[in-house]
Formats: sequence, C-alpha cells, structure tokens
Amino acid sequence: MKTKRNYYVNEKGYFGNFGGAFVPELLYPNVDELNQNYLKIINEASFQKKFHDLLKDYVGRPSPLYYAKRLSKKYNTNIYLKREDLNHTGAHKINNTIGQILLAQRLGKKRIIAETGAGQHGVATATVCALMGIECVVYMGKVDMQRQLPNVERMRLLGATVVPALSGSQTLKDATNEAIRDWINNIDNTHYIIGSVVGPHPYPDMVMQFQSVISEEMRKQLLEKTGNEEPDYVIACVGGGSNAAGAFYHFLESERTKLVAVEAAGEGIHSGKSAATSVLGKIGVLHACKTLLMQTEDGQITEAHSISAGLDYPGIGPFHAHLHETRRAEFISVTDEEALGAALEVTKLEGIIPALESAHAFAALDKMKFKTTDVVALNLSGRGDKDLETYIKHLNAVKQH
Ligand SMILES: *Cc1c(COP(=O)(O)O)cnc(C)c1O
Repeated sequence: MKTKRNYYVNEKGYFGNFGGAFVPELLYPNVDELNQNYLKIINEASFQKKFHDLLKDYVGRPSPLYYAKRLSKKYNTNIYLKREDLNHTGAHKINNTIGQILLAQRLGKKRIIAETGAGQHGVATATVCALMGIECVVYMGKVDMQRQLPNVERMRLLGATVVPALSGSQTLKDATNEAIRDWINNIDNTHYIIGSVVGPHPYPDMVMQFQSVISEEMRKQLLEKTGNEEPDYVIACVGGGSNAAGAFYHFLESERTKLVAVEAAGEGIHSGKSAATSVLGKIGVLHACKTLLMQTEDGQITEAHSISAGLDYPGIGPFHAHLHETRRAEFISVTDEEALGAALEVTKLEGIIPALESAHAFAALDKMKFKTTDVVALNLSGRGDKDLETYIKHLNAVKQH
C-alpha cells in the first residue's frame, strides 16, 4: 500500500525535515504573535472577502490562463501560461503583499518594514502601503540601491523611506539584518513583510497561502479549457519559491500532475557562479529556518549568482526543500544563456516579453519530453519590462554572430 505523503506544514512549523523558527530570543515575541494569529485571521470570512475584493479590483485577478498556440506547436504539446505578468505591478509578488498588509492591519500594526534585493518586493510592499496609507520603511543594500535605481525611485514615489544598508557586502543579506534589528526595536507597532516562502515559521506557510490563489484559479481555468482540472505538468521558476509554491499548492495531492521547479544555474552549475540550490545545497539554517542552502565546508553561506535578480538567492524555502527530498517535484536548472535565449524566443513566438526569472521556466521546456496530448501549465511569474536593457544587449550580441 502506498502511504500518503504530507506536503503541508506541521504544528511545529516544519515541512518534513525543513522549516522551524530559529530566531534570536529578542525576536521571539514578534514571530510568536504571528504564529498564534495568522491562521485564525486568514480564515475569517471578512478577511477572505477583503483579500479577494482587492485581488479582483486592485490587482486585476483572476489572471488569465492563456493557451500559447505557437509555443505549443514548437514543443508539439499543449502549453498554457498563467499570466501573473498581467497583475498590477507586473508580477505575482503583489498577491502576498496584499495578504500581509491586511493581516498587519488586523493585528493593529501602524508601520511596515521590508527588505529588498532587486527592489521588486520593495515596490510591491511600498504599493500596498500607499494603498492603505501606512508608513513604509524598506531596507536595501547600498550596492543594490545603485544597481536598481529605478526601483528605488518607484518606492520613493510611492511614499516609502528607503534606508541603505551599509554593512558587509551592502546587499540583500545586510538589508535583512537591518530589517530584523528594526523589528526587534519596534515590536508593538510594526509588521515585517517577507517577500517569499522563506524565513521563520509561519512566513513560508503564510506566504504560500496568499500565493495559492494562483493554483486555485488554474484548476477552474483548466477545467473550463481542457475538461480536466489537473494538468500533466506545472512548471515554475524558484528563487525563494513563492510563485512556484502558489502554482503547485492545489496540485500537491494530484496523482496526475508532475511538479517542475526551475532553478538558476547562472554561468553553469559547477562554475562557482550559480544559484542551483537543489544540486549544490546542503542542510543548514538561513534566515531563521532550516533548509537547503549553498555553503562552504565550514558552513559559510556562499554567494549565489544568476543573471536574474529574483533568482539570485543562496537557498530555497523549506517547502521546496521538502518537495525535493520527497521527490514530489522535479528540479531542473537553467543557465543565464539558456534563459536569455528562451526570453527572446517566447517574445517572438507569443508577443509576450517575460521577466528573466520566468524565462528560466520557459527554458526548462527544452529539457523535457512531452506527449502531444499532455497539458502543461507554466507560471509566467512576471513581465520583462525591467529586463529590457539585458535583453537588448543579448539581442545585439546574438546578431553579431
Ligand atoms: C521575485 C520574483 C521571482 C522569484 O521569487 P519566488 O519567491 O521564487 O517566486 C520570480 N519571478 C519574478 C517575476 C519575480 O519578481
């Protein structure tokens, strides 16, 4: 007899062997307050109504499920794109920030903090703070601020204060440290919005629940379009793993649906410039949870590399580490070059410029074998406007050869 696997978080905050809340003692009350309240609040009818009303009228959900005819022809199968790129602010991240700002309000918080690397999560956070008229402070490494100036300007325009993190390498890790320090000092009035399925419990589960609207809609849309709620494949890119978690969630128990998580291999898995955590990662603690992460022999976190800022993270969330260990999901890695090629191809075939992150999911199609009857659902996590400069450079380089 086959034993049924459990893919959900347990009451201790673990997905199988991964997760938990390894927080410094000073932070314990903040995390505990969330832990005691998040499920109760999320399940309130009034919360669900506010959440879904905003997703509909502000974000523009449901996002369409689009049959990509020319791409399907190329792979001789049936490919459907879940159009998270059409959401307000251009990606899936807004689903989570809407959920968390409502939760913060319900907990009586008057101030929001966040950390951001490339600025995409910072923009999604600043957006919902403007929407609600709540003070917003975003920590960002000084080096990242210089690299991602347009997003810094967006956040400022939206009324957020962007605080440069000046320690260490002046990137995401340092911004996270600053945000945690702030949270410890402002526990009573402040909520910390984390942008992916990472961090201490209950964040991974909470963020996944907010993002699960993606697969909830997919089931209905697939039924309407194919006569079956369950596809043969769901494919999504994984940085921390929030868009993939949302796209997988309502298919976890499906016998039919294979889940495919696509990681960034950067300049090559073993090049020393990669973010392929499922291949290179070992178990350890990162951002207060036990998960798979890239580290040296003596446990120092190694720098991740990917051409796409959103996938440039040295770990994966505990939910994905569990899917990897139990083999519920297949992990595929895609290099910078492969992702760039896929982005240009999809743009030409479908008239859709995908985000570089999402382009990794498209590039995985080349590494898979499909039947003509298969139904493939690919989560198009965001739009590529932000990546235009990189695409143009690549286009010019290709033309010269
Ligand atoms: C941030 C981002 C990602 C990566 O984050 P996940 O939490 O892994 O989803 C992927 N795609 C886009 C468009 C993003 O902005």
